[in-house]
Order: sequence, then structure tokens, then C-alpha cells
Amino acid sequence: MSRFLHPRFEALEAYTPGEQPKDRRYIKLNTNESPYPPSPQVLTALGQEDLENLRLYSDPVGFSLREKLGKLYGIKADQVFLSNGSDDILNFAFLAFGEKGACFPNTTYSFYPVFCQLHGVGYSAVPVGSDFSVSPADYYDQNRLIVLANPNAPTGMALSRADIRGILERNRDSIVLIDEAYVDFGAESAVPLLADYENLLVVMTYSKSRSMAGARLGFALGSPAVIADLETIKYSTNPYNINRLSMKLAEAAVDSDDYFRQNCKKIVATREQTVVKLKKCGFQVLPSKANFLFARHPHLDGGRLYEALRERGILVRHFTRTDICQYNRITIGTPEEMQALLTAIADILDKEGI
Ligand SMILES: *Cc1c(COP(=O)(O)O)cnc(C)c1O
Repeated sequence: MSRFLHPRFEALEAYTPGEQPKDRRYIKLNTNESPYPPSPQVLTALGQEDLENLRLYSDPVGFSLREKLGKLYGIKADQVFLSNGSDDILNFAFLAFGEKGACFPNTTYSFYPVFCQLHGVGYSAVPVGSDFSVSPADYYDQNRLIVLANPNAPTGMALSRADIRGILERNRDSIVLIDEAYVDFGAESAVPLLADYENLLVVMTYSKSRSMAGARLGFALGSPAVIADLETIKYSTNPYNINRLSMKLAEAAVDSDDYFRQNCKKIVATREQTVVKLKKCGFQVLPSKANFLFARHPHLDGGRLYEALRERGILVRHFTRTDICQYNRITIGTPEEMQALLTAIADILDKEGI
């Protein structure tokens, strides 16, 4: 820390992103990226771009992409907000809507408390159940910014649309933000509830299901007034927040929506096969509606498993927090990658005498 830093940030504990090591080739099952490439239409669109146009600013309004996304989700272009990854939207939302504080589960995306610290938003971290379930009634009558990842991370467990409706019904005067980064892998989206609740903000990303984590594209769907608020923050921060190339690629991705839905089906099938096989090896696996599994072995320390997999060239995500340190979060890769994982696990269990 330099002596120039505003004292307000002295104690700020930044978010720790999943590692992206370069020391060797890894099977990367640690940051929930898609194992499949972006759609062929996206790759074609990239090839057709006149790169000399990079001298020009990108379109700050993004109308054409907003219109396409609006059509896809059955709403209007002025109900769509675009951003540089959905983390950007979360940042804006805590800044814009956190006046009365925020609440979210104590086991969830670990970026939420960082945004609270960054913006001086008080928050309560609501304990999840002993089975990691989120209880909707805990969020009734909170009257402050409610943030729920659905499916939740790192558990993969999902609330139903009826659960979300219940929470919206009991918090008419504050924003309920549903972070749907993983919704395409089998959970119920809250999007149909937008018609009934002006305080609902649904946040989505191209990073996971659409195979475009490196393009940095997120979007939010909400009522026109809430979207306008986010626009105000965006124009006060970084008006050209989406680069020209990503904007083009994002449109091509919406045009090839079937492609990514097929990928999601493949990933869900691989997930279900992997659950069966992990359970056969003795793992306890939480019920996941996401593109990852949260699993522990009763006789093998979570940190030890993480290290042993790493030595074998397989990266998963391990959290050191005491209540979840026996678990690892494993991204669903291709069937071949999951087979390599299972082979490595069998070897590790064997070597550990389990
Ligand atoms: C990955 C992730 C995001 C954001 O990812 P971006 O790449 O910034 O769009 C948001 N929320 C959750 C729960 C995530 O896991």
C-alpha cells in the first residue's frame, strides 16, 4: 500500500479470482468457463471485423445488441443494460442501490462483500442451512438490497421461481438482484417476473454458458427506470464500457442462440454423469443446477485433494474458509476432461489408502 491511498481503502480485502497459471498445461476446472468454443457465427463475425475501425470508439448506447437481447428475453431494449462483464453490473448495483444496506447468503459469490466494503454498504450475511440451502423466508421484509446468485455459487443449488416471487412480494421497496450467471444450466430464470416487479434486476453474463469469458460481456434485465439508473452510473464511470469487437461478437452470439443451448445440454449431461461417478468414489456432492459441482470426500481433506489434483495437472477451486474447506468446486469440462479427473481421483484415493 502506498502512503497516497485513501484511508477508506486501507482495510479493503480485494476479491481473489481463480488462478490462471501459466507454468504448465492444466485441465482447467477452476473458474467455470465453458469447455466449448464460442459459436461458429461468433468466430465468423470476428473474422469479418474491419480491425482498422479500432481507432473509433465503440457505441456507448449499444442499441442493436440491447434490442436483440430484449427480443430474446421478451422485453424492450430499454430494459436491457450492457456491461463489461457482469461483475461490472454488480459493482454498479451495490453503488446505486445500497443506501439502506444489503443482504445475501453467508455462502455465496465472494465478490458481494467486497463490493459492500468498496462502497461502504453495510451488509448482513444470512447463514445458509446446514445443507447449504438458502431459505427464502430469511429474505422477507428486509427492505434493503437483496442479492441472490441463482443457482448459488459455489454450491450450485437453486431456488425456484416461486421462491423468488415470494421474496419480491415481501420487498416491494428495495431492489432484489438475482445473479443468473449459471441459470442456463438448469435453474428457473426470474425473467418472467419482470412483468410484475419493477424492483427486480436480473443479471446475466456471456462468460459461462455462452463460452465468452474473455470477451467480458454482462447484461442486466430490469424495469426501464432501474436500467436508466444503471446507465447514469455507467455514464459517470466509463461510457464506452463495451469494446467494439465484443459488441459485435455478442450480437452474433444472440443470433446463434441454439448453439449455446446445445452446449448447455451437453454440459448438463456430463454433470449428471460426473455426479454418479463421484458418488461411486464416496464423494458427497451437492445437488447442482450449474456448470460446476461442490463436492467433498469424507475421508480426504479438501485442501489435500486440491493439491494432489494440481500435481496431476488438474485445477479445481478450493476455498480455505473453515466451513467449506473440505469441499472443492469442480467445473464441468468435456466428457474427456471429466474422465481425466475421475482417473486422477481414483489414483489419489488409492495412494492415500482410502
Ligand atoms: C462468474 C460469475 C459472475 C461474473 O462473471 P463476469 O465474467 O464478470 O460476467 C457473476 N456472478 C457469479 C455468481 C459468477 O460466478
